[in-house]
Amino acid sequence: MTTLKSIRGFHDIHETIPTWQHVEQVMKKLAAQYGYEEIRTPMLEDSRLFERSIGATSDIVHKEMYTFCDKNEQSVSLRPEGTAAVVRSCIENNLLYSQPRKYYYLGSMFRRERPQRGRLRQFHQFGLECLGYEEPYADVEQLCIIQRLWEALDLHEKITLEINYIGNHDTRQRYTTALKAYYKEHVDSMSEIDQIRWHENTLRLLDSKAPALVELNKNAPTIDHYYTNEERSTIELIETLCKENKIKYSINRRLMRGLDYYSGLIYEWKSEHLGAQSTVCGGGRYDQLFNQLGAQRTGACGFSVGIERLIELTGTLPSPMKNTVVHLITPSEKTLPKLMSLAETLRSLMANHQFYLHPQCGKLGNMIKKSVKMKAGIVIILGEEELNQGVVTIKRLSTQQQKTVKIDDIQHTINEILPCTE
Ligand code: ATP
Ligand code: MG
Repeated sequence: MTTLKSIRGFHDIHETIPTWQHVEQVMKKLAAQYGYEEIRTPMLEDSRLFERSIGATSDIVHKEMYTFCDKNEQSVSLRPEGTAAVVRSCIENNLLYSQPRKYYYLGSMFRRERPQRGRLRQFHQFGLECLGYEEPYADVEQLCIIQRLWEALDLHEKITLEINYIGNHDTRQRYTTALKAYYKEHVDSMSEIDQIRWHENTLRLLDSKAPALVELNKNAPTIDHYYTNEERSTIELIETLCKENKIKYSINRRLMRGLDYYSGLIYEWKSEHLGAQSTVCGGGRYDQLFNQLGAQRTGACGFSVGIERLIELTGTLPSPMKNTVVHLITPSEKTLPKLMSLAETLRSLMANHQFYLHPQCGKLGNMIKKSVKMKAGIVIILGEEELNQGVVTIKRLSTQQQKTVKIDDIQHTINEILPCTE
């Protein structure tokens, strides 16, 4: 029989768990500090949710979604990102009825892209959504949160921020018309997919990686010429707030995001340490999204961080020292039941230590070797002789010292030897 393997682009996470736990803990703490509450939405949604929000012509919906027909003929999709579902949930559960909301999520996303460095088919995002505010203070506060995240993980020197302001729908329309005209004479030499983009989603051509387009884009009209006066003053305010909060940025007029729901300020945080997939965090304002999903227009902004790319930057943290672990071993099956109940008693008495029962017997020397390999601090041995005398042998692995202790005195002896885990 062939052995089964995980699916391409779907990875197990095991060795790096301490790093994941650390990063997640830092993220959750930061979110809480800024008043963001956790929200958990389903991984599977009605496909129309993503068509209406991210956009049917976006790369994500057009070719990257895991979409299939459920048994009731309903088209469902694994979520490729988190924002659409958070907004759906707010609308469905009327969560903004009496107050604005700030939510964060942490979880798996799915995109059927070509797996490569920094690009998986199941990956993880940490995202924040600030819902119910139109003012750019909310956007800049989110930039502050992200900056703090980099600082907490000591990555602030490795990551830089690029921003763009893509205005409201009308501004983008005016700009799109100009851009379409600029590209017009080159359309015939574009790839088929870029020709479709030119028709349906012209702005997407701006961040194309195709060499001919990169060249062409150098002289393309830029959006700033199409801003309204109100938009100009919003940008000024954003820039002032960034300066006051010591957020360094560069303006990239060609920056576009792959999702159709953005308007106003959009941004990406990038690192040159990541290779071709250099964006570690993307976000922006999406005031139209509630409207697109059939609800009343609502000011909102958010971002998401790709955790795999983030962990590529932090590097793997060493496993926490395990020398506070107590192993319980026996060379005799007869004493195993007693050893098991002893372990239970100790766990009740000393909740701050880890008690690892070896639920089998074996040669004492081999069992001790296993415990050493597993970085135990001390082992408790309960052989038949010890059981008869109502004692155990306690061995400190770092010094090889051992002593015989009455069962009632174990707690006291462990406390003398080991620091607590907390
Ligand atoms: P990219 O430029 O890599 O295609 P994107 O614009 O599609 O990114 P977003 O939808 O903005 O990405 O997602 C936010 C973050 O999630 C990205 O900046 C990245 O860190 C991460 N991310 C997106 N797609 C993947 C993927 N396939 N594998 C791993 N991480 C990903
Ligand atoms: Mg992408």
